[in-house]
Amino acid sequence: MSDEKKGNRMQDGFSRRSVLGMGSAALAAATLAGFTAHAQTREGTRQAEGDHSSSNPGQENRALLAENPNSNTPPPTDNGDVGPIWYSFDLTKKRIQEGGWTHQVTQRELPSSTDLAGVNMRLTAGSFRELHWHTADEWSIMLYGNARVTVLNPDGTIFIDDVSKGDLWYFPAGYPHSIQGLGPDGCEFLLVFDQGMFSEDNTFLVSEWVAHTPPDVLSKNFGLPESALTTLPTSFLYIFPADLPKSLAEDKAAVGGQKVQSPIQYTFKMEAMAPTRRTTGGEIRIVDSHNFPVSKNVAAALNTIKPGGMRELHWHPNASEWQFWMAGKGRMTVFMPVGSARTMDFNANDVGFVPFNAGHYVENTGDTDLVFLEMFKASEVLDFSLNQWIRRLPPEMVYSHLKLDRNSIQTIPAEKLEILPR
Ligand code: MN
Ligand code: MN
Repeated sequence: MSDEKKGNRMQDGFSRRSVLGMGSAALAAATLAGFTAHAQTREGTRQAEGDHSSSNPGQENRALLAENPNSNTPPPTDNGDVGPIWYSFDLTKKRIQEGGWTHQVTQRELPSSTDLAGVNMRLTAGSFRELHWHTADEWSIMLYGNARVTVLNPDGTIFIDDVSKGDLWYFPAGYPHSIQGLGPDGCEFLLVFDQGMFSEDNTFLVSEWVAHTPPDVLSKNFGLPESALTTLPTSFLYIFPADLPKSLAEDKAAVGGQKVQSPIQYTFKMEAMAPTRRTTGGEIRIVDSHNFPVSKNVAAALNTIKPGGMRELHWHPNASEWQFWMAGKGRMTVFMPVGSARTMDFNANDVGFVPFNAGHYVENTGDTDLVFLEMFKASEVLDFSLNQWIRRLPPEMVYSHLKLDRNSIQTIPAEKLEILPR
């Protein structure tokens, strides 16, 4: 890295770390210090207007401003309107029942996300998310603890497995399934559904089906006298406490063993797999239908970016991107026609959104590893690297467009690195 680059990075790190203690005027001054002559936008040259343009003498929500300095005082390169790109699970209502809780970020909360919706759920040890099915495919990653999952195939075979932190499951639309928290402290997980308007409050529950079926019909269906049905639930269970299950081997044996065992694998160890790509700046793990065949409609990339590292400038030709931020902090700028760009800061438990085909980067602005998921309603993760594009073109063509000289062009990475080396 050149001395000039190091200097810029230090200056950047300084201004970012100092932001919490700054008033608006100081913040604006710090931002303007980074202003460069070429960064003139159609919103005008703030430099010419001086520091006072972004002064804010009125009221402020200081906690929110501190979380998102790049939104409050955008870089001068930001312009126009790209639509909402940020929301947070920490702004949503938690539905808490005995045994755990759930909350969601769907198209209702983040209107631009029409493809995917996300749910964050907690189950205490032994507690169930009750037997159910729904109209969307369900992709999930365990964030904490352990759970037992089951899913039935149409041919009558059943899949039962235990999942731990960093493991995935995938349940196709309509396939009935269950999730149960295991010891020592249950679990917490993220669910991603391939419908933006999906609601976790709107699923087919076994409790509600029996509660809304005439008892004589249930009696005929089960071949049981109505007197045996008086203990059935009369309203929803949804999340509820229960005893811890037997061992996985005992449960598998109890349902009929090998002869009813699903030939399809519905779980996958994502965090434990070798990185798809690794540089000195971090790692990316890609899981889609190529390595997890049941994951036909949802594709995922788990990024770990070291402090100062960056997910390179890129875009996705096949889907919009829904992000879940798991650890650390960073910023992203989303570029859209015509000349529009929006920069925002993200923290753990936030959701990010990138419109279909929009250019973007993700930069770690914190002092710890940034971990986030890129999620797509697609069978595979596809992206284009700006660096690689530039390096696959004749240098004269690149010079004509960007006025970069041949020597500079030769130092741009020629291969798609995903996460740039530090
Ligand atoms: Mn479900
Ligand atoms: Mn991306």
